[in-house]
Amino acid sequence: MTPHILPNAMLGILGGGQLGRMFTMAARAMGYRVTVLDPDPDSPAGGLADVHICSKYDDPGALQMLVDTCAAVTTEFENVPAESMRFLQARMPVSPKAECVSIAQDRIKEKRYISGAGLSVAPFLAIERAADLEQALSGHLPGILKIARLGYDGKGQVRVKTAEEAKQAFAQMGSRPCVLEKMLNLKTEVSVIVTRTSADEVTTFPVAENQHESGILDISIVPARVPEPIAARAREMALTLAQALDYVGVLAVEFFVLDDDSLLINEIAPRPHNSGHYTISACATSQFEQQVRAMCGLPPGDTRLLSPVAMVNLLGDIWRDDEPAWDKLLSEPAVKLHLYGKKEARIGRKMGHFDVLAADADSAYKLAAELKQMLKGA
Ligand code: ATP
Ligand code: MG
Repeated sequence: MTPHILPNAMLGILGGGQLGRMFTMAARAMGYRVTVLDPDPDSPAGGLADVHICSKYDDPGALQMLVDTCAAVTTEFENVPAESMRFLQARMPVSPKAECVSIAQDRIKEKRYISGAGLSVAPFLAIERAADLEQALSGHLPGILKIARLGYDGKGQVRVKTAEEAKQAFAQMGSRPCVLEKMLNLKTEVSVIVTRTSADEVTTFPVAENQHESGILDISIVPARVPEPIAARAREMALTLAQALDYVGVLAVEFFVLDDDSLLINEIAPRPHNSGHYTISACATSQFEQQVRAMCGLPPGDTRLLSPVAMVNLLGDIWRDDEPAWDKLLSEPAVKLHLYGKKEARIGRKMGHFDVLAADADSAYKLAAELKQMLKGA
């Protein structure tokens, strides 16, 4: 067994976006030091870390510096070059492993892996070249053509009704590998965040119910308002996947719930997830502390939900000419505001989030939706 890495040690993270920032806060609160590698001089995490290495993710000098100065390394996003992760993991403790990250990086690999593990995904076709669009597509239309790599927040996705539209969309996306996924009638969406250590200690956080707007997460409600057997099955499926991957770290699993209550895995993220931000305000341990614990070889913390909660994403859309009405939002005692320190607000850019704690999920959701409207209309 690897010895525990204890406070005061330097922890490295690839990526300094909001997930890296919240990781940095959790790690520093526990007395660890943090080195962030991110090429952006203004990255949200860079300014809060002890050390910010402002270099590209494949810069050999930067990677060597992580090897020389950090006790362990993790990542906050799936698009780090797998080669960089392999370089690091040959020399120091790295979680999750490059193999797990590379599966999550590519929708074709991801869906094949998940089905191979005996878990259901939406009907899909791998479209690696234009000729793949010549096969019978009817079982997958109307559908969504999703780029296999580097898509996020609904980017790199086109809804298509006919084979002709699918071909056009494929060409527009530069004829890069895609999946054509059948458009499904979703009853709801849920997600589960699993933490697993190298000693096979596992925990799951309470299941979140997720509402999206234009392909971007809008609100998460916890506990998810689904029957208990569905929540239990989602947790089981997430654990099965973490075990199959021999995963170490925090793994997010997004699910579709269909009309017949069946669960399909939509996608996975090899890191903390937007739908788990609520854990900071509402759980005994946050998903970011779990990431610290897992990379340090410590057992996962208690995932107990301390209060029902609803989380609302704050996108750049509500900034317009001015800052949103924080005074009104913060006048509400049950609100926890988190801003990511991004200088420029752009449409669709995740700028922050807020949580609303309440006696039950419905009341949390109701107040959260009202406050969201207030910020939009202000
Ligand atoms: P993110 O990075 O925010 O998770 P993404 O770009 O990876 O987003 P997906 O998770 O594939 O995108 O899709 C975003 C949302 O679009 C889903 O959560 C769901 O609401 C909707 N969606 C995606 N695929 C389908 C489908 N096959 N049928 C119905 N709705 C879908
Ligand atoms: Mg998604």
